[in-house]
Amino acid sequence: METIAAADEVVGICRDLLRIDTTNTGDPRTTVGERVAAEYVAEKLGEVGIDVELHESAPTRANLVARIPGADRSRGALLVHGHLDVVPADASEWSVGPFSGEEKDGYLWGRGAIDMKDFDAMMLAVVRDWTRTGYVPPRDIVLAYTADEEAGMQYGSQWLVENHRDLFDGCTEAIGEVGGYSYTVNDDLRLYLVQTAEKGLDWLRLHATGRPGHGSFIHDDNAVTNLAEAVARVGHHRFPTVVTPTVRAFLEQVGDALQIDIDPAEPELAIAKLGPIANLIGATIRNTANPTRLEAGYKDNVIPGRASATIDCRTLPGEADSFLAAMRELIGPDIEVEHVHQQPAVETSFDGALVDAMGAALRAEDRGARTVPYLMSGGTDAKAFSTLGIRCFGFAPLRLPADLNFASLFHGIDERVPVDGLKFGVRVLDRLLRNS
Ligand SMILES: [Zn+2]
Repeated sequence: METIAAADEVVGICRDLLRIDTTNTGDPRTTVGERVAAEYVAEKLGEVGIDVELHESAPTRANLVARIPGADRSRGALLVHGHLDVVPADASEWSVGPFSGEEKDGYLWGRGAIDMKDFDAMMLAVVRDWTRTGYVPPRDIVLAYTADEEAGMQYGSQWLVENHRDLFDGCTEAIGEVGGYSYTVNDDLRLYLVQTAEKGLDWLRLHATGRPGHGSFIHDDNAVTNLAEAVARVGHHRFPTVVTPTVRAFLEQVGDALQIDIDPAEPELAIAKLGPIANLIGATIRNTANPTRLEAGYKDNVIPGRASATIDCRTLPGEADSFLAAMRELIGPDIEVEHVHQQPAVETSFDGALVDAMGAALRAEDRGARTVPYLMSGGTDAKAFSTLGIRCFGFAPLRLPADLNFASLFHGIDERVPVDGLKFGVRVLDRLLRNS
């Protein structure tokens, strides 16, 4: 097989990356390892003659971008990206060391095994193989390894697009997480979910004010009471269902694949029929607003003059404005609303030559493969890259065992990737990039 070298090498590279602790705690003082991991990637690229530069957004917060020139340089480039950081892991909860990169029972174990050092390793293995054999891809491929995806991206992809935009010149499309993995329907049919959309994020802080006073008096302008009423209204509210183009396509295609009657006009009913996939998309048919923090007061018998709360809001593509108007109404006129952190929703259509090539690459390695677009309720580096006008897809291919609860492994205990799946992924990625 033409990609044997990459498939052989990918496991060792993934193991090496898993052994580098790149824990992102969200606090720059305790976040580690991104520089070490980026240097490892740079060394592996340097070994085959690809020179790269590291870009540090802050000490140790390293990003790496490399361009592999294609045969037709007039064509738009394809960005292939992965983040190097991982979320924390509590070793006492794990059955192996979270940074051991241990291989057992057909899996490579470790924090980041599926999120997303698996794909980081695939990218590296494919490009190393190409360079060693003198292969030139049809168009420019831009590889990006980022810091800080797990804590808001301001030291990673967001910093790159704000400070080194030129590195992405000519990029028209991108692939990265979270998609390309299989969901087994039966022996002859596996759905591979390709991410084409992400919800937006809007963390709101509500500030209520009132008259400060003594806790023993009659008091009718209490900041805590004012805030609590608004928070309760938001928390109890259920936003109406909205079926975006991606979710409509998802429901129609999954219904067809599973041979069940799906009516996109009744999305809740439709989702209930989908069994194990239901939890993946439950939050993708409506906007959500969940209260997450409360702050008020400093003494048991003192009524404070201010109280504040944080609401974690997630909005569907195209819904940000109407959502905010509805929130304003719910919160009421007397409470100040501050936007603490905002990231836009993204959505692209599931069509074009690259999408066709994804399906073809999967089918070449798995005859029962069928691609389906989906909207993810979380966020990825795609949010930053899409601001450059790049069409972003979640496509980090993995063929998974039918009984593996893949979704629970994301940020979960005993995160692991099937070794066969990793080799499958590198073959699919190689085919896709050669035919894109
Ligand atoms: Zn990730």
